[in-house]
Amino acid sequence: MEQLGIHTYVWTAASKQQDLEMAMERTSELGYDLLEFPRLDPRKFDIAALGRRRGELGLKAAVSMGLPVDGDVSSEDPAIVRRGEAMLEEAVAVTRDVGGHKLAGIIYSAHRKYATAPTRKGWQNSVAVLARVAEKARAAGVTLNLELVNRFESNLLNTVAQGLAFIRDTGSDNIFVHLDTFHMNIEEADPARAIRLAGDQIGYFHIGESNRGYLGSGTINFDTVFDALIDVGYADCISFESFSSEVVDQDLSMTCAIWRNVWTDNVSLARHAKNFVQMRSAEAQRRADAYRTRQAPVQPATGSPM
Ligand code: MN
Repeated sequence: MEQLGIHTYVWTAASKQQDLEMAMERTSELGYDLLEFPRLDPRKFDIAALGRRRGELGLKAAVSMGLPVDGDVSSEDPAIVRRGEAMLEEAVAVTRDVGGHKLAGIIYSAHRKYATAPTRKGWQNSVAVLARVAEKARAAGVTLNLELVNRFESNLLNTVAQGLAFIRDTGSDNIFVHLDTFHMNIEEADPARAIRLAGDQIGYFHIGESNRGYLGSGTINFDTVFDALIDVGYADCISFESFSSEVVDQDLSMTCAIWRNVWTDNVSLARHAKNFVQMRSAEAQRRADAYRTRQAPVQPATGSPM
């Protein structure tokens, strides 16, 4: 059985230390295993204190982020690339200090709608930075997870095939793909096949509906998604990500085009998501078990001699 995570922005836009403490408490009370933090500025938050509270609650943590335009490691401008590399190094340290083991999100380009296609030089710059940061991350006990997002949120990696090619170019075994059902639903010809293609290179997984609201209220076929996750043996964290204009972080809400309320009651939303994932995952496991039973060779009768 996989672990269940939830994104901080279900609870709060996290402008203050107390907001993050509240988010950890809600997450723990509702029976989730992990809280996904946004990128935290160590000059603004007491990261060690957050890590201690996390430990007291018995929660796991991950950190996700999108690089800003002035820290775009897929830029052709060396100063911008260097700034992005420094931001990634800081995010690795924050992930370690809060007690997390995964840094995820759009860490290979800016998180934005691009007006131009990526360049070969930009790809190479990003590959070189990620390869270097991956080694620092390894020393910190942190993996890097590249979130494959839709075309309106990055121009570099929109599909699993692109993500795997990028990882091959880095030559690193500390970089994985971070899949998200919301984005796969837009970009992959068949999200379940994309999961099977990613296989053991899946490091982190976001579950989100096509409208980014209640799971089951949109068009995503979650049964085939869970069947594929079982096929590839994914037993790590599945984190629920949902955004509503009820909770607004200026940067992320604008970039992700969160223009309306798809929910108002976040406790009800989080309870529903946990039940949904557990139920659909258990159903998929029963389907897989039934299939294996039917496929098992018939055992010859034993016991009595001829
Ligand atoms: Mn996501």
